[in-house]
Amino acid sequence: IVSIAAGGGGAKLIKDDCIVLYPYPAMGHLISMVELGKRFFDLSTDDVGCGFTVVVIVAEAPFVLPNIDVYIKTVTETHPSIVFLRLPPQPSFTADDYYPPSLRTIEIAFEFMRASNPFLRLSLQSISLFARVRGLFVDFFGTAAMDVADELGIPPYPFMASPAAQLAFFLYLPTMHDNTGSSFKDLERGTLLEFPGLPPLPAADVPQGLEDRNEKVYCEFLEMSKRIARAAGFVVNTFDWLEPRALTALENGAFVPDGAPKPPPCYAIGPLVAPDKGDGGAEYCLKWLDSQPRRSVVLLSFGSMGVFSTEQLREIAAGLERSGHRFLWVLRCNDNNAADLDALLPDGFFGRTRGKGLVWKSWVEQAAVLNRDSVGAFVTHCGWNSVLESVCAGVPMVAWPLYAEQRMIRVLVAEEMKLGVAVEIDEKGKVSAGELEKRVREVMDCSEGKALRERAENMKGHAAAAFGEGGPSRMALLRLAKTLKQI
Ligand code: UDP
Ligand code: UDP
Repeated sequence: IVSIAAGGGGAKLIKDDCIVLYPYPAMGHLISMVELGKRFFDLSTDDVGCGFTVVVIVAEAPFVLPNIDVYIKTVTETHPSIVFLRLPPQPSFTADDYYPPSLRTIEIAFEFMRASNPFLRLSLQSISLFARVRGLFVDFFGTAAMDVADELGIPPYPFMASPAAQLAFFLYLPTMHDNTGSSFKDLERGTLLEFPGLPPLPAADVPQGLEDRNEKVYCEFLEMSKRIARAAGFVVNTFDWLEPRALTALENGAFVPDGAPKPPPCYAIGPLVAPDKGDGGAEYCLKWLDSQPRRSVVLLSFGSMGVFSTEQLREIAAGLERSGHRFLWVLRCNDNNAADLDALLPDGFFGRTRGKGLVWKSWVEQAAVLNRDSVGAFVTHCGWNSVLESVCAGVPMVAWPLYAEQRMIRVLVAEEMKLGVAVEIDEKGKVSAGELEKRVREVMDCSEGKALRERAENMKGHAAAAFGEGGPSRMALLRLAKTLKQI
């Protein structure tokens, strides 16, 4: 029922104490969970008696994931003891709605993971023939798998590839649902929602899919929020210094209604980001960056799915030009404006910015780019992985959310962590050239951006220390490992 992606010898590695990771098969979710697996694998025998074997069960995505085979191969080469099991495809789920992300995309994520339960059950039963499965780590899109874990007597641990604030949000959602009585979209503009562990959250900034309680996807989120309350514990890709408010609320169970049982423990084991492989997959780009002065370049990159209309692209180009700063713009085109950048961007743009700016049309490894000395600011769509990569590199952000829970992350980045500024998005969802220029200047220009840069530099130090000797993420990992082993 499953195929093993470890050169055929993988099955032999499944033995002793084992943890099983069950990500949602999108790169951002997969990578952070695999990084968790590496942390488990790297635990020394002194730490927990003997280590864990790590199995990653990968459902065949309902959409095309161009990088996944290469990624799995690379991990298998560098970490041969991490075993990947691939589940068979489910042709009834099609990719049509995946790109760009819509409500239906999110709905499919839940439905598809639920439909994978029979395959998951068989896989876990097979693994249990060779190993003691000490924990099943499930993506928050895949918490239907908790039913399978319960059936087989395996402790389930939801894994958040998002901030701790998002976990706090979900755990309080059922209470907020009862208290509010109407859809978030119908609340008065400017209404601030009080979720324990979060700064006051404008109702318009709730995660995508939660705006309208009559939508099916809202019900999926609500059901998930109720289900995770009975988890064995949570693992969140964050660290103590980055989200103290949310993590304290999670520890105290601030969201639990009076009289309800104590919440499951929450383990902040981050930052889990893909290693910076150094080459960035785009030598030209990195060479160019290395020829620029320190902290002089604004990086713009909008994740794996961020695409804009032609009109918006022109505003970005004009804003960048007017800011006067150097830039590296990773520009993912949509089907309508794929081909000719010259025709797409304002007349003469490339001539006027020659030597000062680079527009890059293909994939570039963002983590590698962020770690170059010349990068001074990052205009980001606020995908959580991107934010963590920016934090690890000590680069302040200009937050421009596009989809998923990114509007909420913008609030965290700009107001809670104070590691960046937010662009103002108008009612049509557009950002003007003038607005972009203003925010880029705020971060890049000496006087205003200084405090931000200092905070970012400071947080970079904390990020590096999180897994160091005695660091909070390392301690949380050890606590979790001991709990799993019941020692
Ligand atoms: N490129 C780009 N935007 C630019 C300049 C270059 O996307 O503004 C890309 C181009 O598509 C190619 C790579 O950078 O993939 C190298 O560009 P080019 O062939 O112009 O290299 P050069 O001749 O400058 O060495
Ligand atoms: N990424 C990259 N190159 C790109 C675009 C994205 O390496 O040109 C990586 C980025 O470093 C991050 C991931 O893709 O690790 C995107 O994850 P994130 O959670 O930020 O956003 P998503 O794409 O899931 O919305």
